[in-house]
Amino acid sequence: MKTVGYAAKSEGAQLGEYTFERRDLRDNDVEIEILYCGVCHSDIHTVRNDWGGSKYPVIPGHEIIGKVVSVGENVSKFKEGQLVGVGCMVDSCQQCESCKEGLEQYCENGMVGTYNGKDEHLGGHTFGGYSETVVVREKFVLKVPENIDAKGAAPLLCAGITTWSPLRHWKVKKGDKVGVIGLGGLGHMGVKFAAALGAKVVMITTSPGKSEDAKKLGADEVLISKDEEQMKKHTGSFDFLLNTVPVKHDLNPYIGLLKRDATMVLVGAIEPLEEMHGGLLITKRRNVAGSVIGGIPETQEMLDFCGEHNIVSDIEMIDMQNINEAFDRVTKSDVKYRFVIDMKSLKN
Ligand code: NAP
Ligand code: ZN
Repeated sequence: MKTVGYAAKSEGAQLGEYTFERRDLRDNDVEIEILYCGVCHSDIHTVRNDWGGSKYPVIPGHEIIGKVVSVGENVSKFKEGQLVGVGCMVDSCQQCESCKEGLEQYCENGMVGTYNGKDEHLGGHTFGGYSETVVVREKFVLKVPENIDAKGAAPLLCAGITTWSPLRHWKVKKGDKVGVIGLGGLGHMGVKFAAALGAKVVMITTSPGKSEDAKKLGADEVLISKDEEQMKKHTGSFDFLLNTVPVKHDLNPYIGLLKRDATMVLVGAIEPLEEMHGGLLITKRRNVAGSVIGGIPETQEMLDFCGEHNIVSDIEMIDMQNINEAFDRVTKSDVKYRFVIDMKSLKN
């Protein structure tokens, strides 16, 4: 079926309107009319080929909220008209140990990304949510609580789960001192979730101007990472750090903030890092770890939690036609705190 979206046709190109094919509905597929799609920094990294290996045209978008238009014969969980979400994955092998544990993001045979993944049905690569419709295997479609704002729910599908998953895996609990590094799309969800889990949250930011907002989002304290004096005061005091910095950077000042045995989890910089000082790790048995999005069961758990606690992202709505400007603003850390595209604008 013909679908209209927005694509970058080559490395770093501006995004523009693009018509392409979506597969016809199979027995276990759900066809979704896309209402809203969040703008993740990963969309920009992929369009600009920051990680290498991008395939063009790139149609980004993996924070998808939509309505079910039709379902295949074997689909039992969804029905026409239902509000649903699709995140960063649209398929995985379902056979390996990770898939069996509901950790499809670590599929040993490689999960299929919502965009720039291998399209086994039409050949070539997958196209994401900056488009009118998407057809997705039922197993990778999420139920979105009807009581939360659908626009603000879009970023939960990536920024939300990417911060929720490490907070849960490392068992962040009431009273823990948790630092969230970088107040962007991921960071602002990290603050909301850590606060909702009862942690004492410190926003660690390079932008003093974001302090007020950080507190409104749920941070108890703000630490300006460029201020050495302030950093010194927090040395060896954190139970957990969630690092969302999107580029290569010096980890050492942050490692020094960890308590003995505590962990800093990287979710942002998916690239070679600057040198780490072994002494900082060894002398306090500290850990530096990584984490990628979250599995499907965990994503549903996070969405249900958001329904119960009325949590959504803080967003700025944009029309599809303004996407290139939005990319530039995200690159400058100038968004509060996630852009969400209103897909109706595609019809303008
Ligand atoms: P974002 O909205 O651009 O936020 C990143 C924040 O990091 C900025 O707002 C800024 O916050 C801080 N920052 C930027 N440059 C910095 C620097 N040089 N040093 C220190 N801090 C800096 O990005 P996002 O959408 O949250 O995504 C963050 C990263 O996570 C991206 O690289 C994205 O590709 C990646 N990601 C990973 C996963 C995963 O599964 N692991 C999933 C989604 C996204 P302050 O102004 O507060 O300092
Ligand atoms: Zn993302």
